[in-house]
Amino acid sequence: MPRPFERGEYDNRFRNTCLANHSSVGGIFDGRAPLRHGGVRTPIDVDEIARLLQIEVTEHADPGAANTIGKITLSHEGPARVWINPAENAYGPRRRFTLAHEIAHFCMHRSTDRHEFIDDKSTMNRSESYWNSYESEANRFAAELLMPQQLIESLGRRVIDAYKAEHNTEKMPLTRFIDVMAVKFRVSHLAMEFRLRNVGIGKHK
Ligand SMILES: [Zn+2]
Repeated sequence: MPRPFERGEYDNRFRNTCLANHSSVGGIFDGRAPLRHGGVRTPIDVDEIARLLQIEVTEHADPGAANTIGKITLSHEGPARVWINPAENAYGPRRRFTLAHEIAHFCMHRSTDRHEFIDDKSTMNRSESYWNSYESEANRFAAELLMPQQLIESLGRRVIDAYKAEHNTEKMPLTRFIDVMAVKFRVSHLAMEFRLRNVGIGKHK
């Protein structure tokens, strides 16, 4: 089992550590080498990543857990099990973010004293989870997993060039760019807007 992450170091090391034994997943994460060979495409196949990590995903209805968006049960003996609440994840991009968030717990928090992470609106919320290191890490990891910087930059350049050629203009409006990119990565407009700002796009309006 890969070494767990120390607090705060995952952003530099998760590609090499968490997924060291899963080279195909590591390729999806990294985005560079496979992209050169045409291997990584948007949207990132988050179900395939879960499958490669041998995480069991179930999505049965459970009216008793109405406030739960998703959860992961970690085990040293058997496979990790993720439950996605279908009632809270009908919107495709939401479901993808939920699964990515649970994969983050699997990658980063397996060797902690926690065996289960139960996620609701507050743990999945960027600002509400700010002071909870497990949950803010998981949200950040999920954004990086679904929207790798390399892919954003390479695809973003193509999107902007295509727009400029089509509309015979020198500038693509930021909201339009976010819309197109959100569709391509199959994430919400808000998630894409925030991610772009994190990688330094759209800071200055
Ligand atoms: Zn969580």
